[in-house]
Formats: sequence, structure tokens, C-alpha cells
Amino acid sequence: DYRARSAYKLKQLDDTADLFDDGDTVVDLGAAPGGWLQVAAEKVGPQGKVVGVDLQRIDDLDAHQVSTIPGDMTEEETRDRLRRELDVAERSSAANQKSKISGDAEGGQGVVDVVVSDMAPNMTGEYELDHARSVHLARIAFETAVEFLKPGGDFVAKVFQGRDLDDLEADIEPSFQYVRRVSPDASRDSSSEVYLVAKGYTDAPVAEGD
Ligand code: SAM
Repeated sequence: DYRARSAYKLKQLDDTADLFDDGDTVVDLGAAPGGWLQVAAEKVGPQGKVVGVDLQRIDDLDAHQVSTIPGDMTEEETRDRLRRELDVAERSSAANQKSKISGDAEGGQGVVDVVVSDMAPNMTGEYELDHARSVHLARIAFETAVEFLKPGGDFVAKVFQGRDLDDLEADIEPSFQYVRRVSPDASRDSSSEVYLVAKGYTDAPVAEGD
């Protein structure tokens, strides 16, 4: 039994896009109450590692490969905790400053196989605002993917459909072999959500030759 029905969405995303392998390291953003963590832990097995982050407390899972970080992913402090959990050296503030100025994503840490985000804003009911906030969270997730993914790694982010979705997808596309929109059956009840599934992190706009 899973803690959240959303677990079935991740199973379906994995069936569709073949996200997880045995022994993978996975980052799960917006992980509470932990349904996706349970699925990811099963998929990567005892040799894998799964790190979940959420604003909300996540009750301990009895899978030793899962660890959780309480925090807001829009805050640098939370991202630092994630770096420590993944054993990645924190970026110096100078490097941060430089990457902000040059617009470069720092990238290339190459420690994570899959970054998934099911983060969702608190719904206001105002369609445009909820959409914009969800796109913002998906962009935060994308930055996280760029920072930590290994070449060939995969990225999934939930987003509410709306006018900025095309731009978001276009911004993600150059860093991966391909990006698709997937609507798992399990999320049909909330029809405005869609998952961007980006396969094969490349960090290079041109796909490698055949
Ligand atoms: N995938 C989860 C599962 O299977 O149990 C369900 C995730 S739920 C749909 C969305 C989660 O995103 C909420 O728990 C919420 O607290 C979290 N969230 C929203 N904004 C966040 C942020 N800025 N940082 C971290 N988590 C956030």
C-alpha cells in the first residue's frame, strides 16, 4: 500500500518513460507524504539512494535507502542541504555570483540519475496564478536537474497547463535528448496537470551523431 494515490502516477510515468534502474540515485522534489518515495525506493532497490524534499514533514519510511529533507526548494538553504545530502561540495558564493551574472547553469556535478518533481503550489483557484506558480516550481526543479544530473539522466516535472508551458518546455528541451508531455491516467481527475518528461540529460543543444 502506498501513502498517496499519486504513487500510481509515478509508476505509470516509469512504465512510459523507463526512468529508474537498479542502484540509481534519485531526487524527489515535493515528496510529501511519500508515495513517490515508496515507488522510487522499490525501483532502485537496496543499492539505490532516494532523497526527498518537501515543505511538509515526511514520516519516516522503512526503506534504508530513503532520506528526507524538510525545506522550501525555492530557498538556497534547502538546496545547500540537498548538496550536503548528495555529498556535493557547496558552491562558493563567488561561483554562484559568476553563474548568475553569466546566466550559466553551473551544471555538471553528475551525481544523480533521475530528478522528479511533483511540487505543486497551494491552489488559489485563480487559474493564471496557479499556473504561473507551478511553472516557477517546475523551473526550480529544472535548475536542480541541471545542477545534479549525470549525463544521460532523466527529469520529470509536474506543471499545470497554461500559456507559459510551451516556453518552459522549450527552455528544457536543449538540455535533453527529448522532452514529452505525459498525462498519466491516474491524474485524469485533475485534468490541468501534465508531466514534462525529459530523457537523456546532455547539456548540449545538439544531439550526438548517430
Ligand atoms: N509525490 C507526492 C507523493 O507521492 O506523496 C505528492 C506531492 S504533493 C502533490 C505536492 C507537494 O509539493 C506538497 O507536499 C507540497 O508541500 C510540496 N511543495 C510545494 N511547494 C514546495 C516548495 N517550494 N518546496 C518544497 N516542496 C514544495
